[in-house]
Amino acid sequence: MFRETVTHAGGDTEGTASEAHALMLLRRAARRGYAIEATAPGGALITWTCHQLGGVEHRSISLVPQMPVGTLTDAVTRDLGLIADLRPVEYVFNDHGRRIILAGLTEISAMMTATLRARQLVTEHRGTVRLTLTARLGLLAAAHRTTTTEPDSWSRPADAGMAALTAGLNRPGRRAGMINRTASAATCSCGRLRAFGGDRADARRLARAHRRDAAASFVEALPVSFTTAVTA
Ligand SMILES: [Zn+2]
Repeated sequence: MFRETVTHAGGDTEGTASEAHALMLLRRAARRGYAIEATAPGGALITWTCHQLGGVEHRSISLVPQMPVGTLTDAVTRDLGLIADLRPVEYVFNDHGRRIILAGLTEISAMMTATLRARQLVTEHRGTVRLTLTARLGLLAAAHRTTTTEPDSWSRPADAGMAALTAGLNRPGRRAGMINRTASAATCSCGRLRAFGGDRADARRLARAHRRDAAASFVEALPVSFTTAVTA
């Protein structure tokens, strides 16, 4: 379940959204080309502009999970990846009578299974265990943590990450010497964003555009069979 806040011309309307409703909102937003961003707790922010008589109005729908995903450790992320990728995924009982998740041929420990269930990262529907939408959104946000640099800081040799970027810029005949001191680099933890903005606001726009592209692809790629189920 999500807390849903719709911001419209008349103000804010608050309510709750089931997973199925949240999914419908995301799919509709993607279809209409609205901007979608996943949030670290496992929610989403949908924004768009509305052309009205007398100007442009900004609209948004915020989805905040009632149970945030919490810290997605490497172990949790790995096991969620197995559940997302392998088939079939079901609950079985181990030799000690404890409930475990069996993903393909991989057993997820009883302790981890209990953790994933308690944090509502997984849900079961008709015998099949799958990730909740909250878990998927949390993983998406974790996979695309963007950063922008302070203007001029990328030229510091101590910054190994930025050194590579600077090296490219200093190549003869390229943009050597042409970088404005206000320039700011935008990068993403996924490794697929390495861009420069004319200033930090510009870099932040590049980072936001990258996160929105990732969210749009994510919604498009959600399996058709991603159906609702009552979370325990
Ligand atoms: Zn990314």
